[in-house]
Amino acid sequence: MASILNITELCGDGIGPELEEAVASVAQALPLDMTFDKVDWSLERRNQDGEAAIDEGVDSLKRNRLALKYPTVTGSVSPNALLRRRCNFSVIYRPAISIPGIHTNFKEDVNLHVVRVGTGGTYEDPGQLIGEHAAVSLRMVEREPCTHAAQFAFELARRNGWSVTSSSKHTIQRVTDGLFESVVKTVSENYPYVDFNTELFDALLGKLILQPESYEVVLVLNEYGDFLSDLASGLVGSLGTGASGNFAFGKEGNVEMAMFDPAGGTAPDIAGKNICNPAAMLLAFGMLLDHIGERFLGDKLRGAIASAIADGERTGDLGGSLKTTEFTAQVVSRMGL
Ligand code: ATP
Repeated sequence: MASILNITELCGDGIGPELEEAVASVAQALPLDMTFDKVDWSLERRNQDGEAAIDEGVDSLKRNRLALKYPTVTGSVSPNALLRRRCNFSVIYRPAISIPGIHTNFKEDVNLHVVRVGTGGTYEDPGQLIGEHAAVSLRMVEREPCTHAAQFAFELARRNGWSVTSSSKHTIQRVTDGLFESVVKTVSENYPYVDFNTELFDALLGKLILQPESYEVVLVLNEYGDFLSDLASGLVGSLGTGASGNFAFGKEGNVEMAMFDPAGGTAPDIAGKNICNPAAMLLAFGMLLDHIGERFLGDKLRGAIASAIADGERTGDLGGSLKTTEFTAQVVSRMGL
C-alpha cells in the first residue's frame, strides 16, 4: 500500500481559510493519499497562546518535513521571521513565469527561477547607531547556505535543462560577495553540462527587463534575492500570482524540510467574500507536488491554472468575475484527473 503523505498546514488570517478550501478541493481531486495537519496560526490564536502556537506549528513541520503556509498578519512578532529562525530555511526558491492572459508591461516570455540564500546578509542585524549621525550594520555571508543554494540551483537547472546565472557585486563587495561567487564557482564544477554565467547585479537588472528570455535560474544572496523576486513578479505582470519554496537542509546537504507559501498577504479588505484569487496558493501547492516527486501532477495543476486564466475564467483581481470557489472548480475540472 502506498504511504500516506502528511502535510502541515500553517493556517493564517484574512483570506487564509478561503485559500485552504481551494487547496482542499484540488487535493481531493489528486490520486494521492494526503492528510493535512492543520495548525491554527491566526492572530487571535497567536495572541492567546503566544510561543505555544508557534511551537505547535514548528513541531508539526519538523515531524512532517513538508508544509503549506497561508498568509498571516504580522502582529507583535512576524511568524515568517520566527519560522526562518526556528527552521533555518536557508534557501528560498521563487519562480516567475509568464501566464498568457495576465497583462504585463514587458515581454511575455519570462521563465525566471530566482534561487536566493535565505539567511544572512544584513537582514539579521538591525544595525547600530554610531553617535547621532551615522549607523552601521553587519553583513553576514556564510559558506554553508551559499553551498546549499548553489547546489539547489544547479540541480534545478540540470533537471530542467536550464542555465544558471549567479549575480552579486563581487567587484566592490570583494570579500562577502567574493565568498559567495567562489562557492558558486566550486559547485558549478560538478555540473559541467549546465550553462553557467556570472553577471554584476546592477547590469543584471537592466538586462532582465530588456531580454528576460536570456535568463532561467538566477542565483543570488539574500537582499539581492529579495529585490529580484519582486522585480521578477512585476515582469510577469502580477505580484499576486507568485509562490515560494523555503528549504532547510540536513548535514549531508539533503533537503530536510520544505515549506511552500504564496507571495501575497492576508488581503483583509476582501476576506470572507469568496472573491480572492487562489492561484498563488495553488501554485505553492504545485511546487509542493514537484518537491515530493509528483512533477506530472504539478504540471497538470499549473497547466489548469494557466488555461483557466487564458480562457478568461478569472477572479476579479485579474479582470474576471469568478468567485474563488468557481475559479477553483475550473482548475479542478481542467486538470482532467
Ligand atoms: P498584509 O498586511 O497581510 O500584507 P495587505 O492587504 O496589506 O495585507 P496584501 O494582502 O498583499 O496586503 O493585499 C494588497 C492588495 O491586493 C489588497 O487590495 C488585496 O485585496 C489585494 N490582494 C491580495 N491578495 C489577493 C488575492 N489572493 N486575490 C485578490 N486580491 C488580492
